[in-house]
Amino acid sequence: MSRPAPRLAVVVPCLDEAETLPFTDVRLRECLSRFMEDGLAAPESFILYVDDGSSDATWDVICGLSRASERVYGLKLASNAGHQQAIMAGMEEASARGCDGAVSIDADLQDDPEAIAGMLREYRCGTDIVFGVRRRRREGIFKKVTARAFYRFRDALGVRTVRDHADFRLLSARAMEALGRYRETNLFLRGIVPMLGYRQASVWYDRMPRRHGKSKYPIGKMLNFAADGITSFSVRPARMILVCGFFFMLIALAILVYSLVRYFTDHTIAGWTSTILSIWFCSGVLLLALGVVGEYLAKVYMEVKGRPRWQVEARTGVRRSGSGKDGAQR
Ligand code: UDP
Ligand code: MG
Repeated sequence: MSRPAPRLAVVVPCLDEAETLPFTDVRLRECLSRFMEDGLAAPESFILYVDDGSSDATWDVICGLSRASERVYGLKLASNAGHQQAIMAGMEEASARGCDGAVSIDADLQDDPEAIAGMLREYRCGTDIVFGVRRRRREGIFKKVTARAFYRFRDALGVRTVRDHADFRLLSARAMEALGRYRETNLFLRGIVPMLGYRQASVWYDRMPRRHGKSKYPIGKMLNFAADGITSFSVRPARMILVCGFFFMLIALAILVYSLVRYFTDHTIAGWTSTILSIWFCSGVLLLALGVVGEYLAKVYMEVKGRPRWQVEARTGVRRSGSGKDGAQR
């Protein structure tokens, strides 16, 4: 193995997970201790819970866990910044606390924390990015089918992603630093991380159903996320509309020629049905085209504003490196 055992940060984004966290914490700490005993992670490794603007008692639970163990830290965002930004905020905090690598994992432990051992082995052999890939998905049929359709569509659009990988991954310190330079508001980590380069590998695990609490990705949020995942990486939809427009113009030209011929040969008046049909059809195509353009314009608008992507409200535990004033706040 070419690298020493890393000081690992396990970054856990949490939105309204008060019910889940006590179970998650026991499991994660138990795994982390084992990794330390096996010489896979350094003794200074830690868990960082990022409270993404929860409205339940999540932050109180995190403070309690942080008081109970010196290996647990908490970061509270001032408002809900979203799953992807919560992970970014956690990674940034983990870097500021001087870790050599960080694993991001969901609070519901649908992703198997045991797989982190494999990630650490890869890291120690010199890999900078290790993706957790789902071998079998024990989820509802709806989630499975929508996920598959989404991956297919993205493939067709030429967006590079690791199939069946969500946000369970290990990044080395330098990969995190590279990631930190992507300051996008419309963040889709699954698309960005493979673009970072460096040595990449995958480990496989079985995805479990959620045991406690509810999914924080209702259908609306899921669709938004999927749209972000496509429009943030590919301009092909806009181009497809352009090609469609060209094609429809050709059809219109053909219809024009046809009607002229009919007019001069047998004086027939064009039917009402075809007129109405074409009006509706063309309006539909136009609205669709406008929608796609609007979607991209909205993305540009959000990026151009360059708003801060999250705001830190509080943190637990003293930062060992980074700016001195960031001490314990609770
Ligand atoms: N999450 C978050 N902010 C959000 C939505 C979700 O931090 O705005 C967290 C959530 O607490 C969980 C993870 O992101 O730890 C994944 O969410 P969830 O398990 O609900 O998604 P699903 O597995 O159903 O796709
Ligand atoms: Mg989940």
